Amino acid sequence: MQKLKCICCDTEIIPIHAEIIPEDQPYSGMYKNGTVDCLYANYASEHDLKKFVVSICDECITKKLETGHLIEICDDWTEGITWTS
Ligand SMILES: [Zn+2]
Repeated sequence: MQKLKCICCDTEIIPIHAEIIPEDQPYSGMYKNGTVDCLYANYASEHDLKKFVVSICDECITKKLETGHLIEICDDWTEGITWTS
């Protein structure tokens, strides 16, 4: 499995049970110290139609929430979207 690093600080994001995470779907796995997900470029972006994998460590999530670079919109997505702001 390809190593995943935090987009902000380069910390390696450590998978849990890496052996069961599909190589082409790293966002489907579980990680000890961060989050890995998809990022879709919006229409009209110079990257329109591209899909990316983005990783961010838990520490940077906390910091970026405080600075407003990251916005929390839901505190339990398993319950459906509940807007927090
Ligand atoms: Zn980080």
